[in-house]
Amino acid sequence: MIRSDNGYFGEFGGRYVPEILLPALTELEDMFFALRDDPTFWQEYLTLTQEFSGRPTPLTPLRRLSKELGGAQIWLKREDLNHSGAHKVNNVLGQGLLVQRMGKKRVIAETGAGQHGLATAIMAARLGLDATIYMGADDIERQYSNVFWMRQLGSKVVGVETGARTLKEALDEALRDWAGSVENTHYVLGTACGPAPFPELVSYFQGVISQEIKQQAMAQIGRLPDEIVACVGGGSNAMGAFGAFLEDDKVGLVGVEAGGLSFKEGEHSVRLLPDTATPGIAQGYKTLFLQNEDGQLGDTHSIAAGLDYVGVSPILAHLTQTGRVTPESAQDHEVTDAFKLLMKTEGIIPALESSHALAGGFKRAKTMRPDQHIVINLSGRGDKDIFNIARAFPQPEWSDFLQRESERAKELFEATQGEK
Ligand SMILES: *Cc1c(COP(=O)(O)O)cnc(C)c1O
Repeated sequence: MIRSDNGYFGEFGGRYVPEILLPALTELEDMFFALRDDPTFWQEYLTLTQEFSGRPTPLTPLRRLSKELGGAQIWLKREDLNHSGAHKVNNVLGQGLLVQRMGKKRVIAETGAGQHGLATAIMAARLGLDATIYMGADDIERQYSNVFWMRQLGSKVVGVETGARTLKEALDEALRDWAGSVENTHYVLGTACGPAPFPELVSYFQGVISQEIKQQAMAQIGRLPDEIVACVGGGSNAMGAFGAFLEDDKVGLVGVEAGGLSFKEGEHSVRLLPDTATPGIAQGYKTLFLQNEDGQLGDTHSIAAGLDYVGVSPILAHLTQTGRVTPESAQDHEVTDAFKLLMKTEGIIPALESSHALAGGFKRAKTMRPDQHIVINLSGRGDKDIFNIARAFPQPEWSDFLQRESERAKELFEATQGEK
Protein backbone atom coordinates (compact mmCIF):
# COMPACT_ATOMS: atom_id res chain seq x y z
CA MET A 1 0.00 0.00 0.00
CA ILE A 2 1.19 3.51 -0.78
CA ARG A 3 2.19 5.56 2.29
CA SER A 4 3.06 9.24 2.13
CA ASP A 5 5.94 10.78 3.99
CA ASN A 6 4.00 13.37 5.99
CA GLY A 7 1.70 14.05 3.03
CA TYR A 8 4.51 13.96 0.43
CA PHE A 9 5.48 11.45 -2.25
CA GLY A 10 9.06 12.41 -3.08
CA GLU A 11 8.87 16.10 -3.90
CA PHE A 12 5.13 16.03 -4.72
CA GLY A 13 1.99 16.33 -2.61
CA GLY A 14 1.64 18.42 0.54
CA ARG A 15 -1.17 20.60 1.76
CA TYR A 16 -1.27 24.19 0.52
CA VAL A 17 -4.65 25.49 1.70
CA PRO A 18 -6.04 28.48 3.60
CA GLU A 19 -5.60 28.23 7.37
CA ILE A 20 -9.33 27.86 7.92
CA LEU A 21 -9.42 24.48 6.13
CA LEU A 22 -6.52 22.91 8.04
CA PRO A 23 -8.57 21.60 10.99
CA ALA A 24 -10.96 19.75 8.65
CA LEU A 25 -8.07 18.15 6.72
CA THR A 26 -6.35 17.15 9.95
CA GLU A 27 -9.58 15.67 11.32
CA LEU A 28 -10.04 13.69 8.10
CA GLU A 29 -6.43 12.51 8.14
CA ASP A 30 -6.63 11.43 11.81
CA MET A 31 -9.80 9.46 11.12
CA PHE A 32 -8.33 7.88 7.98
CA PHE A 33 -5.01 6.94 9.62
CA ALA A 34 -6.89 5.40 12.56
CA LEU A 35 -9.07 3.27 10.26
CA ARG A 36 -6.90 2.28 7.31
CA ASP A 37 -5.18 -0.60 9.08
CA ASP A 38 -8.37 -1.76 10.79
CA PRO A 39 -9.59 -4.93 9.01
CA THR A 40 -13.14 -4.44 10.29
CA PHE A 41 -13.31 -1.03 8.58
CA TRP A 42 -12.03 -2.48 5.30
CA GLN A 43 -14.61 -5.27 5.62
CA GLU A 44 -17.37 -2.71 6.19
CA TYR A 45 -16.23 -0.92 3.02
CA LEU A 46 -16.10 -4.18 1.03
CA THR A 47 -19.58 -5.16 2.20
CA LEU A 48 -20.99 -1.80 1.12
CA THR A 49 -19.40 -2.11 -2.34
CA GLN A 50 -20.61 -5.73 -2.66
CA GLU A 51 -24.18 -5.07 -1.57
CA PHE A 52 -24.53 -1.82 -3.47
CA SER A 53 -22.14 -1.65 -6.40
CA GLY A 54 -21.73 -5.18 -7.70
CA ARG A 55 -18.22 -5.87 -6.44
CA PRO A 56 -16.11 -7.78 -7.13
CA THR A 57 -16.17 -6.69 -10.77
CA PRO A 58 -15.11 -9.43 -13.23
CA LEU A 59 -11.74 -9.91 -14.91
CA THR A 60 -12.79 -10.61 -18.50
CA PRO A 61 -10.50 -12.36 -21.01
CA LEU A 62 -10.58 -10.85 -24.52
CA ARG A 63 -9.99 -14.09 -26.42
CA ARG A 64 -11.05 -12.96 -29.87
CA LEU A 65 -9.27 -9.63 -29.70
CA SER A 66 -6.04 -11.11 -28.30
CA LYS A 67 -5.95 -13.59 -31.17
CA GLU A 68 -6.63 -10.87 -33.72
CA LEU A 69 -3.80 -8.65 -32.41
CA GLY A 70 -1.49 -11.66 -32.18
CA GLY A 71 0.40 -10.60 -29.04
CA ALA A 72 -0.19 -10.96 -25.30
CA GLN A 73 -3.40 -12.31 -23.76
CA ILE A 74 -5.53 -9.26 -22.93
CA TRP A 75 -7.83 -9.09 -19.90
CA LEU A 76 -10.19 -6.29 -18.88
CA LYS A 77 -10.89 -5.31 -15.28
CA ARG A 78 -14.55 -4.40 -15.51
CA GLU A 79 -14.98 -1.22 -13.46
CA ASP A 80 -17.63 -0.30 -16.04
CA LEU A 81 -19.93 -2.76 -14.27
CA ASN A 82 -20.03 -0.72 -11.06
CA HIS A 83 -23.27 0.98 -10.06
CA SER A 84 -23.30 4.31 -11.97
CA GLY A 85 -21.01 2.84 -14.62
CA ALA A 86 -17.49 3.70 -13.47
CA HIS A 87 -14.89 3.36 -10.74
CA LYS A 88 -15.69 6.76 -9.18
CA VAL A 89 -18.32 5.27 -6.88
CA ASN A 90 -15.64 3.21 -5.03
CA ASN A 91 -13.93 6.31 -3.67
CA VAL A 92 -17.16 8.12 -2.94
CA LEU A 93 -18.64 5.23 -0.95
CA GLY A 94 -15.44 5.00 1.10
CA GLN A 95 -15.51 8.70 1.89
CA GLY A 96 -19.18 8.34 2.85
CA LEU A 97 -18.19 5.84 5.55
CA LEU A 98 -15.57 8.28 6.87
CA VAL A 99 -18.20 11.05 6.94
CA GLN A 100 -20.45 8.85 9.06
CA ARG A 101 -17.57 8.10 11.46
CA MET A 102 -16.81 11.83 11.78
CA GLY A 103 -20.47 12.44 12.63
CA LYS A 104 -20.94 14.93 9.78
CA LYS A 105 -24.30 15.20 8.04
CA ARG A 106 -23.54 17.15 4.87
CA VAL A 107 -21.27 16.66 1.86
CA ILE A 108 -20.26 18.99 -0.96
CA ALA A 109 -18.48 18.27 -4.23
CA GLU A 110 -17.58 20.01 -7.45
CA THR A 111 -18.03 18.31 -10.78
CA GLY A 112 -17.17 19.04 -14.41
CA ALA A 113 -18.83 16.52 -16.69
CA GLY A 114 -21.07 15.45 -13.82
CA GLN A 115 -19.83 11.90 -13.21
CA HIS A 116 -18.32 12.64 -9.80
CA GLY A 117 -21.36 14.73 -8.86
CA LEU A 118 -23.65 11.87 -9.79
CA ALA A 119 -21.60 9.35 -7.80
CA THR A 120 -21.66 11.71 -4.80
CA ALA A 121 -25.44 12.18 -5.10
CA ILE A 122 -25.89 8.41 -5.18
CA MET A 123 -23.71 7.92 -2.09
CA ALA A 124 -25.48 10.73 -0.19
CA ALA A 125 -28.91 9.23 -0.91
CA ARG A 126 -27.78 5.76 0.13
CA LEU A 127 -26.14 6.92 3.38
CA GLY A 128 -28.73 9.58 4.29
CA LEU A 129 -26.53 12.68 3.92
CA ASP A 130 -27.37 16.14 2.57
CA ALA A 131 -25.47 16.90 -0.62
CA THR A 132 -24.72 20.10 -2.53
CA ILE A 133 -22.97 19.77 -5.87
CA TYR A 134 -21.26 22.76 -7.51
CA MET A 135 -21.11 22.82 -11.27
CA GLY A 136 -20.23 25.49 -13.83
CA ALA A 137 -23.34 26.93 -15.48
CA ASP A 138 -22.03 25.97 -18.94
CA ASP A 139 -21.30 22.43 -17.79
CA ILE A 140 -24.86 22.21 -16.47
CA GLU A 141 -26.23 22.96 -19.91
CA ARG A 142 -23.81 20.55 -21.58
CA GLN A 143 -24.36 17.65 -19.17
CA TYR A 144 -27.97 18.12 -18.29
CA SER A 145 -28.89 14.46 -17.88
CA ASN A 146 -26.43 14.10 -14.98
CA VAL A 147 -27.87 17.25 -13.37
CA PHE A 148 -31.37 15.86 -13.80
CA TRP A 149 -30.45 12.64 -11.99
CA MET A 150 -28.53 14.39 -9.22
CA ARG A 151 -31.64 16.44 -8.45
CA GLN A 152 -33.95 13.42 -8.62
CA LEU A 153 -31.61 11.72 -6.13
CA GLY A 154 -32.21 14.57 -3.70
CA SER A 155 -29.01 16.59 -4.13
CA LYS A 156 -28.92 20.34 -4.53
CA VAL A 157 -27.09 21.32 -7.72
CA VAL A 158 -25.73 24.87 -7.73
CA GLY A 159 -24.84 26.41 -11.10
CA VAL A 160 -21.80 28.69 -10.89
CA GLU A 161 -22.18 31.71 -13.15
CA THR A 162 -18.79 33.39 -12.66
CA GLY A 163 -15.76 33.37 -15.01
CA ALA A 164 -15.71 30.74 -17.73
CA ARG A 165 -18.65 28.97 -15.96
CA THR A 166 -16.84 25.60 -15.87
CA LEU A 167 -15.03 23.30 -13.43
CA LYS A 168 -12.47 25.81 -12.13
CA GLU A 169 -15.14 28.26 -10.98
CA ALA A 170 -17.16 25.40 -9.45
CA LEU A 171 -14.05 24.38 -7.48
CA ASP A 172 -13.60 27.93 -6.12
CA GLU A 173 -17.25 28.05 -5.10
CA ALA A 174 -17.13 24.65 -3.37
CA LEU A 175 -14.04 25.76 -1.41
CA ARG A 176 -15.82 28.96 -0.35
CA ASP A 177 -18.75 26.86 0.91
CA TRP A 178 -16.39 24.55 2.80
CA ALA A 179 -14.53 27.43 4.47
CA GLY A 180 -17.87 28.49 5.99
CA SER A 181 -19.21 25.02 6.79
CA VAL A 182 -16.28 22.80 7.83
CA GLU A 183 -17.87 22.01 11.20
CA ASN A 184 -20.65 19.86 9.73
CA THR A 185 -19.58 19.41 6.09
CA HIS A 186 -17.16 17.08 4.30
CA TYR A 187 -15.70 17.93 0.90
CA VAL A 188 -15.82 14.80 -1.30
CA LEU A 189 -12.80 15.00 -3.59
CA GLY A 190 -13.19 12.91 -6.73
CA THR A 191 -9.67 11.84 -7.65
CA ALA A 192 -6.21 11.12 -6.23
CA CYS A 193 -5.22 14.81 -6.27
CA GLY A 194 -5.62 17.84 -4.01
CA PRO A 195 -4.22 18.49 -0.54
CA ALA A 196 -3.13 15.65 1.78
CA PRO A 197 -4.64 13.30 2.81
CA PHE A 198 -6.83 13.09 -0.33
CA PRO A 199 -4.33 11.49 -2.78
CA GLU A 200 -3.53 8.74 -0.29
CA LEU A 201 -7.11 8.33 0.90
CA VAL A 202 -8.64 8.10 -2.58
CA SER A 203 -5.92 5.62 -3.65
CA TYR A 204 -6.65 3.52 -0.56
CA PHE A 205 -10.34 3.05 -1.43
CA GLN A 206 -9.66 2.59 -5.16
CA GLY A 207 -7.05 0.00 -4.16
CA VAL A 208 -9.90 -2.51 -4.05
CA ILE A 209 -9.46 -2.72 -7.84
CA SER A 210 -5.87 -4.04 -7.73
CA GLN A 211 -6.56 -6.29 -4.75
CA GLU A 212 -9.27 -7.98 -6.80
CA ILE A 213 -7.09 -8.12 -9.93
CA LYS A 214 -4.42 -9.91 -7.90
CA GLN A 215 -6.80 -12.56 -6.58
CA GLN A 216 -8.54 -12.99 -9.93
CA ALA A 217 -5.25 -13.27 -11.83
CA MET A 218 -4.07 -16.00 -9.47
CA ALA A 219 -7.36 -17.87 -9.94
CA GLN A 220 -7.86 -17.31 -13.68
CA ILE A 221 -4.30 -17.03 -15.06
CA GLY A 222 -2.46 -18.90 -12.32
CA ARG A 223 0.09 -16.12 -11.82
CA LEU A 224 0.39 -12.33 -11.71
CA PRO A 225 -0.02 -10.47 -15.02
CA ASP A 226 3.01 -9.05 -16.82
CA GLU A 227 1.51 -5.58 -17.18
CA ILE A 228 -1.35 -3.45 -15.88
CA VAL A 229 -2.54 -0.51 -17.99
CA ALA A 230 -4.86 2.32 -16.90
CA CYS A 231 -5.86 5.75 -18.20
CA VAL A 232 -4.80 8.80 -16.20
CA GLY A 233 -7.03 11.81 -15.59
CA GLY A 234 -6.49 12.83 -11.99
CA GLY A 235 -5.09 9.35 -11.43
CA SER A 236 -7.60 7.56 -9.21
CA ASN A 237 -8.44 4.55 -11.38
CA ALA A 238 -4.73 4.15 -12.22
CA MET A 239 -3.69 4.24 -8.56
CA GLY A 240 -6.52 1.83 -7.85
CA ALA A 241 -5.33 -0.60 -10.51
CA PHE A 242 -1.62 -0.26 -9.58
CA GLY A 243 -1.77 -0.03 -5.76
CA ALA A 244 -1.48 -3.70 -4.78
CA PHE A 245 1.28 -4.31 -7.36
CA LEU A 246 3.74 -1.56 -6.39
CA GLU A 247 6.07 -4.04 -4.71
CA ASP A 248 5.73 -6.70 -7.42
CA ASP A 249 8.65 -5.51 -9.54
CA LYS A 250 7.95 -7.97 -12.36
CA VAL A 251 4.52 -6.43 -13.00
CA GLY A 252 4.85 -3.44 -15.33
CA LEU A 253 2.55 -0.49 -14.58
CA VAL A 254 1.57 1.77 -17.47
CA GLY A 255 -0.42 5.03 -17.23
CA VAL A 256 -1.97 6.36 -20.44
CA GLU A 257 -2.72 10.08 -20.71
CA ALA A 258 -4.75 12.00 -23.28
CA GLY A 259 -2.43 12.81 -26.20
CA GLY A 260 -5.34 14.73 -27.78
CA LEU A 261 -4.72 16.18 -31.22
CA SER A 262 -0.98 16.84 -30.89
CA PHE A 263 1.71 17.73 -28.37
CA LYS A 264 1.15 21.42 -29.13
CA GLU A 265 0.20 23.50 -26.10
CA GLY A 266 -3.56 23.39 -25.48
CA GLU A 267 -4.10 20.32 -27.69
CA HIS A 268 -3.46 17.55 -25.12
CA SER A 269 -3.53 16.72 -21.39
CA VAL A 270 -0.14 15.01 -21.02
CA ARG A 271 1.53 15.75 -17.69
CA LEU A 272 3.73 12.73 -17.01
CA LEU A 273 5.92 12.58 -20.11
CA PRO A 274 9.05 14.77 -20.03
CA ASP A 275 8.79 18.26 -21.56
CA THR A 276 5.08 18.97 -21.29
CA ALA A 277 4.47 19.75 -17.60
CA THR A 278 6.59 21.26 -14.82
CA PRO A 279 6.43 21.08 -11.02
CA GLY A 280 4.21 23.70 -9.43
CA ILE A 281 1.81 24.39 -6.58
CA ALA A 282 -1.87 25.01 -7.31
CA GLN A 283 -5.29 23.82 -6.13
CA GLY A 284 -3.87 22.92 -2.71
CA TYR A 285 -0.99 20.62 -3.66
CA LYS A 286 2.32 20.26 -5.49
CA THR A 287 2.51 18.21 -8.66
CA LEU A 288 3.35 18.37 -12.38
CA PHE A 289 1.09 21.00 -13.93
CA LEU A 290 0.62 22.17 -17.50
CA GLN A 291 1.59 25.81 -17.00
CA ASN A 292 3.55 28.68 -18.49
CA GLU A 293 6.78 30.11 -17.07
CA ASP A 294 4.85 32.41 -14.71
CA GLY A 295 2.99 29.44 -13.24
CA GLN A 296 -0.26 30.30 -14.99
CA LEU A 297 -2.17 27.07 -15.61
CA GLY A 298 -2.42 26.11 -19.28
CA ASP A 299 -5.26 24.94 -21.49
CA THR A 300 -5.96 21.25 -21.95
CA HIS A 301 -7.77 19.17 -24.53
CA SER A 302 -9.14 15.65 -24.55
CA ILE A 303 -12.06 13.96 -26.28
CA ALA A 304 -12.75 12.43 -22.86
CA ALA A 305 -13.99 14.97 -20.29
CA GLY A 306 -12.58 12.89 -17.42
CA LEU A 307 -8.99 13.15 -18.70
CA ASP A 308 -9.09 16.87 -19.37
CA TYR A 309 -7.18 18.17 -16.34
CA VAL A 310 -4.07 20.39 -15.85
CA GLY A 311 -2.70 18.59 -12.77
CA VAL A 312 -2.13 14.92 -11.95
CA SER A 313 -1.92 12.77 -8.85
CA PRO A 314 1.25 13.61 -6.89
CA ILE A 315 1.64 9.87 -6.30
CA LEU A 316 1.77 9.16 -10.04
CA ALA A 317 4.10 12.13 -10.58
CA HIS A 318 6.44 10.55 -8.03
CA LEU A 319 6.10 6.96 -9.28
CA THR A 320 6.83 8.15 -12.82
CA GLN A 321 9.89 10.07 -11.64
CA THR A 322 11.22 6.95 -9.88
CA GLY A 323 10.54 4.80 -12.97
CA ARG A 324 8.00 2.49 -11.32
CA VAL A 325 5.20 3.71 -13.56
CA THR A 326 5.74 3.98 -17.33
CA PRO A 327 3.97 6.97 -18.90
CA GLU A 328 2.28 6.58 -22.29
CA SER A 329 -0.15 8.70 -24.25
CA ALA A 330 -2.84 7.99 -26.81
CA GLN A 331 -4.02 10.44 -29.44
CA ASP A 332 -7.68 11.00 -30.21
CA HIS A 333 -7.60 8.96 -33.45
CA GLU A 334 -5.92 5.99 -31.71
CA VAL A 335 -8.56 6.20 -28.99
CA THR A 336 -11.45 6.08 -31.43
CA ASP A 337 -9.86 3.11 -33.24
CA ALA A 338 -9.45 1.19 -29.97
CA PHE A 339 -13.01 2.05 -28.97
CA LYS A 340 -14.44 0.64 -32.20
CA LEU A 341 -12.22 -2.44 -32.11
CA LEU A 342 -13.32 -3.41 -28.59
CA MET A 343 -16.99 -2.91 -29.41
CA LYS A 344 -16.96 -4.91 -32.64
CA THR A 345 -14.69 -7.71 -31.45
CA GLU A 346 -15.89 -8.25 -27.88
CA GLY A 347 -19.32 -6.60 -27.47
CA ILE A 348 -18.24 -4.20 -24.73
CA ILE A 349 -18.96 -0.45 -24.92
CA PRO A 350 -16.10 1.45 -23.24
CA ALA A 351 -16.04 5.04 -21.94
CA LEU A 352 -13.87 7.40 -24.00
CA GLU A 353 -11.61 7.85 -20.97
CA SER A 354 -11.08 4.09 -20.68
CA SER A 355 -10.50 3.85 -24.43
CA HIS A 356 -7.19 5.66 -23.86
CA ALA A 357 -6.10 2.72 -21.71
CA LEU A 358 -7.32 0.36 -24.45
CA ALA A 359 -5.31 2.21 -27.12
CA GLY A 360 -2.16 2.14 -24.99
CA GLY A 361 -2.75 -1.46 -23.91
CA PHE A 362 -3.43 -2.83 -27.41
CA LYS A 363 -0.27 -1.16 -28.71
CA ARG A 364 1.81 -2.78 -25.97
CA ALA A 365 0.08 -6.16 -26.27
CA LYS A 366 1.09 -6.38 -29.95
CA THR A 367 4.77 -6.20 -28.95
CA MET A 368 4.37 -8.97 -26.33
CA ARG A 369 4.35 -12.79 -26.62
CA PRO A 370 1.19 -14.95 -26.55
CA ASP A 371 2.30 -16.50 -23.25
CA GLN A 372 2.28 -13.06 -21.60
CA HIS A 373 -0.74 -11.41 -19.95
CA ILE A 374 -1.80 -7.78 -19.85
CA VAL A 375 -4.66 -6.38 -17.76
CA ILE A 376 -6.34 -3.17 -18.93
CA ASN A 377 -8.48 -1.31 -16.41
CA LEU A 378 -11.80 -0.51 -18.07
CA SER A 379 -12.63 2.45 -15.81
CA GLY A 380 -16.14 3.06 -17.16
CA ARG A 381 -18.82 2.25 -19.68
CA GLY A 382 -19.54 4.31 -22.74
CA ASP A 383 -23.27 4.06 -23.30
CA LYS A 384 -23.82 7.03 -20.96
CA ASP A 385 -21.56 9.05 -23.31
CA ILE A 386 -23.74 8.54 -26.36
CA PHE A 387 -23.70 12.19 -27.47
CA ASN A 388 -19.99 12.72 -26.89
CA ILE A 389 -19.29 9.54 -28.79
CA ALA A 390 -21.64 10.43 -31.62
CA ARG A 391 -19.92 13.82 -31.84
CA ALA A 392 -16.48 12.20 -31.73
CA PHE A 393 -17.33 10.01 -34.76
CA PRO A 394 -19.67 12.21 -36.78
CA GLN A 395 -21.66 10.27 -39.39
CA PRO A 396 -24.14 11.99 -41.71
CA GLU A 397 -26.97 9.63 -40.77
CA TRP A 398 -26.69 10.59 -37.08
CA SER A 399 -27.13 14.31 -37.50
CA ASP A 400 -30.96 14.23 -37.42
CA PHE A 401 -30.91 12.04 -34.34
CA LEU A 402 -28.41 14.32 -32.58
CA GLN A 403 -30.45 17.38 -33.48
CA ARG A 404 -33.69 15.86 -32.19
CA GLU A 405 -32.10 14.66 -28.98
CA SER A 406 -30.48 17.99 -28.29
CA GLU A 407 -33.88 19.68 -28.71
CA ARG A 408 -35.39 17.19 -26.26
CA ALA A 409 -32.58 17.79 -23.77
CA LYS A 410 -33.21 21.52 -24.04
CA GLU A 411 -36.92 21.03 -23.35
CA LEU A 412 -36.09 18.95 -20.28
CA PHE A 413 -33.61 21.57 -19.13
CA GLU A 414 -36.18 24.35 -19.48
CA ALA A 415 -39.03 22.37 -17.94
CA THR A 416 -37.00 21.58 -14.82
CA GLN A 417 -35.32 24.95 -14.32
CA GLY A 418 -37.42 25.74 -11.26
CA GLU A 419 -36.16 22.61 -9.45
CA LYS A 420 -33.19 22.88 -7.14
C1 LIG B 1 -13.45 10.36 -14.20
C2 LIG B 1 -13.07 9.24 -15.05
C3 LIG B 1 -11.71 8.95 -15.34
C4 LIG B 1 -10.56 9.80 -14.90
O1 LIG B 1 -10.37 9.93 -13.54
P1 LIG B 1 -9.17 9.22 -12.76
O2 LIG B 1 -9.21 9.88 -11.42
O3 LIG B 1 -7.90 9.50 -13.51
O4 LIG B 1 -9.47 7.78 -12.70
C5 LIG B 1 -11.43 7.82 -16.10
N1 LIG B 1 -12.41 7.02 -16.57
C6 LIG B 1 -13.72 7.28 -16.32
C7 LIG B 1 -14.74 6.35 -16.89
C8 LIG B 1 -14.10 8.39 -15.56
O5 LIG B 1 -15.40 8.62 -15.33
